Amino acid sequence: MKTAAPRRKQAPVVRTVRHDINQKPFIVIWEVTRACGLVCQHCRADAQHEPHPQQLTTEEGMLLLETLASYNRPKPLVVLTGGDPFERDDLEELVRHGTELGLNVSLSPSVTPKLTPERINSLREAGGKAMSMSLDGATAATHDKFRGFSGTFEKTLETAPHINKAGYRLQINSTLTKGNIHEAPALLKTVMGMEAKMWYVFFLVPTGRGADLGALSPEEREDVLHWLSDISNRIAIKTTEAPQYRRVVLQQQEAKEKGLPPYEGGELYKYLTDETAKLLGAHAEKPRPPRSPMAVNSGSGFAFIDHIGDVYPNGFLPLHCGNVKDTPFQEIYSNSPAFKALRDPDNWHGKCSVCEYHDVCGGSRSTAYALTGDYTASDPTCVHIPARWAAMTEEERAASTGDAKVKLRLPIQPA
Ligand code: SF4
Repeated sequence: MKTAAPRRKQAPVVRTVRHDINQKPFIVIWEVTRACGLVCQHCRADAQHEPHPQQLTTEEGMLLLETLASYNRPKPLVVLTGGDPFERDDLEELVRHGTELGLNVSLSPSVTPKLTPERINSLREAGGKAMSMSLDGATAATHDKFRGFSGTFEKTLETAPHINKAGYRLQINSTLTKGNIHEAPALLKTVMGMEAKMWYVFFLVPTGRGADLGALSPEEREDVLHWLSDISNRIAIKTTEAPQYRRVVLQQQEAKEKGLPPYEGGELYKYLTDETAKLLGAHAEKPRPPRSPMAVNSGSGFAFIDHIGDVYPNGFLPLHCGNVKDTPFQEIYSNSPAFKALRDPDNWHGKCSVCEYHDVCGGSRSTAYALTGDYTASDPTCVHIPARWAAMTEEERAASTGDAKVKLRLPIQPA
């Protein structure tokens, strides 16, 4: 009989949601449209030039916001993304309505000619709290190639002061791949120069256009995650599709407390560390207390609503769990079998199910699904060997893994 993984004491360096995560998400991402003027290589949304005819209307969007606002405080954070949300003429109306209902609404526009100082200001007046832009390279050549348009790099740098001046919290999103990882320290310097409050680092899920873009190997990911934890006293860090960042933050803290040697790392870690020291100094000039990452994961404190109202545990995890036009969002979030399974790591498969960190990490469910076809499988991109896994026999491991073997040939070597 399967026994539950030992629950570890939560360390304060990682925050956990205080309310019952089964009843209410911490954050909801709503893809208000799939229309977008860019053709980014790694686009999750496979963005189109025109909005879909079944895209949620203004009235349906308002109703959705009312549904989200009907949760008790603290209400979920709401991020309006796309496509490009600035493609919607009713965006101010939606932001104002959500804000008046008590929601904290953030925006994630694409850098196109529609991202004007006037529109940035009008959305701030409507109540927008944070705004993010993407920057995927420290040079125009790298970034513009990623985004599919020349001039996007310059426009992103030019727009940052407008966002800051308008009073938003500026967040910069960067996808790190084999193609741009060597620029990461220079990118960090650029992001800090833009006075961003948060650097949100995306790791590729090998699906869609991202499949051929050079996902980092598990060892490279580990090096990058340790580097990110090291630099988190320079800028607040968040990761997408790499919840192992929280495990790394905890491990670094535990090593410090126990006087253990720091992470030795591979070539990439050494390169990133040395290059950062060259560009920004070996130590942060004005060190800030690292911002503790929040332990939310696909379907577990996190939900994604697409442009036509379909609900998914995450925008990168193609498990359709219902549509807000037919079923109240609360019902889908709390009772959909997939959402429930995603909140029950003790009953997953493989090493994540027995990992001492699974309640704060849980692995990338999207990556597990993309590589094995089982969203409860272990995340093959994680190098960590949980203590219980190490103690198991081959037979016990095989029984725990079940059919969730890595099935797809991808440019990464599973750990
Ligand atoms: S084994 Fe799974 S739960 Fe544990 S750290 Fe790795 S990805 Fe996270």
